[in-house]
Amino acid sequence: MSLSRKETIACPKCKKNFEVTIWNTVNTDLAEDVAGLIVTGKFFVETCPHCGYHLTLNYPLLYQDLKHKAMVWIIPRGEGREKKIAEIRGGLAVPEYTTRMVAGIDQLREKVSSLESGRDDRVLELLKWSLVQNLQKQMPNFRLREVLYLRLEGKEAFHFYSTEGGYLCGELVEEQYQFIQNKFAGQLEKFDGLSYPEVDYLWASALWANA
Ligand SMILES: [Zn+2]
Repeated sequence: MSLSRKETIACPKCKKNFEVTIWNTVNTDLAEDVAGLIVTGKFFVETCPHCGYHLTLNYPLLYQDLKHKAMVWIIPRGEGREKKIAEIRGGLAVPEYTTRMVAGIDQLREKVSSLESGRDDRVLELLKWSLVQNLQKQMPNFRLREVLYLRLEGKEAFHFYSTEGGYLCGELVEEQYQFIQNKFAGQLEKFDGLSYPEVDYLWASALWANA
């Protein structure tokens, strides 16, 4: 199976056609600093040669990190998603690998950040959930659209984006990470070795509900 293929798409802005690269598999051995380019979001950005418009496409793809023994599948939300996920989970198990299922490029950026930092992404999602609760108490007018954990230029931080275009950033606090890790240690054991679980905000909120 080839790693990538070319496809012609219409630019969303100027409507002219141009060729883009569609990845089936992205392997960290592919080139130097693939992980870094994914975290910044640059790896998947395509630029229209006619008008300069930048876009990021969202499609199924497998990220393979041999160094950290991890595999992350992106299966975008939409029709047939559950079926595709079931197929992947029912496939050949790779017991010594950490596997994850995500819905898009931004979530892959988070998982790659976590791998590069040597973190447990489950602890990060649990911490993220508690940070969001605090934020909503302190700033009820900040209508949260999305929050991402990213490691940019060696700095780990949570990035909060509001529906009105607002932005806040808070660096990861080691003591908070350790606290969550200890608090949930027993519960997290139960999730070890699962095939391509979705470890996201919803997952974390379910765990907090039973905390
Ligand atoms: Zn264009």
